[in-house]
Amino acid sequence: MQLIFHGAAREVGRSCVEVASEKRFLFDAGIKITAEQPEHPTHIDDLRGIAGVFLSHGHLDHCGALPLLDHTGLRCPIFCTSATKAITRILLKDALKIERIKHHHPAYDKNDVFKALDSVQKVRYGQKNYLEGIEFAFQDAGHIPGSASIMVEVEGKRILYTGDINTTQTMLLKGAFVNFPKINTLICESTYGEKDHPERKKEEKAFLSKVKEISDTGSVILPVFAVGRAQEVMMMLAKKDFSVPIYMDGMAKSVTELFEQEPGFIRDVSLLQKSAEKVEFIESRDEREEALKKKGIFLTTSGMLSGGPVIKYLTELGDNPNNGILLTGYQTEDSNGRLLLEEGRVIIDNKLIKINSQVKQFDFSAHAGMRELKELVRKIMPEHAIFVHGDKSATLSMAKFAESLGIKACAPKTDEILEV
Ligand SMILES: [Zn+2]
Repeated sequence: MQLIFHGAAREVGRSCVEVASEKRFLFDAGIKITAEQPEHPTHIDDLRGIAGVFLSHGHLDHCGALPLLDHTGLRCPIFCTSATKAITRILLKDALKIERIKHHHPAYDKNDVFKALDSVQKVRYGQKNYLEGIEFAFQDAGHIPGSASIMVEVEGKRILYTGDINTTQTMLLKGAFVNFPKINTLICESTYGEKDHPERKKEEKAFLSKVKEISDTGSVILPVFAVGRAQEVMMMLAKKDFSVPIYMDGMAKSVTELFEQEPGFIRDVSLLQKSAEKVEFIESRDEREEALKKKGIFLTTSGMLSGGPVIKYLTELGDNPNNGILLTGYQTEDSNGRLLLEEGRVIIDNKLIKINSQVKQFDFSAHAGMRELKELVRKIMPEHAIFVHGDKSATLSMAKFAESLGIKACAPKTDEILEV
């Protein structure tokens, strides 16, 4: 059979692997978000001939191309967990809104989003399923709620697609399931193929003491990703007592409610609920204005300062050196967050604005670090390992590591076709 890499090949973004065997199917169909128009997977021949899409999780770099593919001819079931379906719904609708605000002209509309969601067939972790005679199973990938690694048996061979994976337990999630049977071909993410994370418990401690230190004299802005990071940071904060209130603003709120309705995907849902009780949710502009009159800890989207209510907080609070901005996630190269880290400035309404508050970044990654990725490869010991979803040097470095274990390994380029 052939594997064709339509994206996420020596890059992070637009994940999409086509498997062309007795049947043709896709692992993921994502977009790559850039400052300009989002990039889509490369051309897929005969979309109508695709028998199914296995969707690993609800992040846009894995699901964002589904509406456009639906618009251009994809007519097949999309398999994912119920939490992934709910997250996909929220993020696809939001993506469409943002495209319109940016005056881009997406080639699809709301109907295509709904149609794509209508094609979803929900799958449970650990359950055997069939697509036109092909057996497959989803397992918890520990990355965000609902995320899955997907094992497919086709032509007598087992393929494992890790999706985005985190093997380490966090406040919010259990670590990924890794006890797979013999795998012939592993398609593995490599986001941190060359970098280790700091020890999570230590990082958490350092983060909480920094929040405490700043909140004694000023306000703290905590830019967070809406899905997963917001809830995890909220749970960390709830463990401690602060002298100022904790607020949550932006899309993170609806995602928190969604998680409470999907308890099976959360490590300890009662802890999530208890933590949410310690937080005041901001529902309107007036409430935001009111909250800003006093000191507070503000959990708000977006995590890379690209839009959302965080802009208002930066505008109101960013000038005061007693305040602090603690970034809790990875900042891509052309993001406002990266600009803040490197130059102490952000772009708001097309103007470059100096930030005088203190700025610090913490690493609460939802991806396995280099050490864990290598452990995973060593544990699975496939015949063939293919590294995707990482930059060129990270994917090549992981391939080199796998080769050192005697595994046939590579880091394919975009549109490369591999025979496995
Ligand atoms: Zn992801």
